Amino acid sequence: MIKEHYETVKKDIGDQAVLCAVTKNRSVDEIMGLYEAGERIFAENRAQALKQRAAELPDDIAWQFIGHLQKNKVKDIIRIAKRIQSLDSIELAAVIEKEAAKAGIVMPVLCEFHLAEEDTNKTGLSADQAKSFIQEVMKYEHLKVEGIMAMGPHTDDENRIREVFEQAHELYLSLQKEFGEEVIQILSMGMSDDYRIALECGSNMVRIGTYLFQ
Ligand SMILES: *Cc1c(COP(=O)(O)O)cnc(C)c1O
Repeated sequence: MIKEHYETVKKDIGDQAVLCAVTKNRSVDEIMGLYEAGERIFAENRAQALKQRAAELPDDIAWQFIGHLQKNKVKDIIRIAKRIQSLDSIELAAVIEKEAAKAGIVMPVLCEFHLAEEDTNKTGLSADQAKSFIQEVMKYEHLKVEGIMAMGPHTDDENRIREVFEQAHELYLSLQKEFGEEVIQILSMGMSDDYRIALECGSNMVRIGTYLFQ
């Protein structure tokens, strides 16, 4: 089924969006099934799991970090992650800067926004912080801001999900206007249950786990 679901998702996203296959809680065998189907972009939300997975799986995987990143874990993933999609504080940016400089790399990052106010357990920046936050992060030489990440609200109400994704898209467009389309290129939103809505609202990167491995 992995191959079938992979092909369904690839067909749905067409050339509008990039797929990040979320491997949290999956076995190496399951992940290899997807790798063999052709996928090369995988995502983890825990530093420990990312480190372990990267050691067990082929080298040509472009690992994405998508979870809340603790500052003391940055050094564990700095040489592994190809992009950190969950930058949510200046303190974290400062630590990534320091570790990326040490490693001699520039780390691509997405700024994570928390737009669904009803999900109080989620982390992320608020829309009104966006411009000043990105201005600050752009001062760091070893970070490359590439865009934003957002999550839909945890609800079955499609209208509400759409509302949040539209808000994320508007924020994305206003940041493109402010910082340039060559800087703000990625709008990462959409998971198993809501990626089709996210695509309709302009997403160009989806993060899908559950559906792919069902
Ligand atoms: C788990 C997770 C996903 C994927 O969710 P599914 O419902 O399994 O597709 C996407 N983004 C983040 C940040 C996640 O933690």
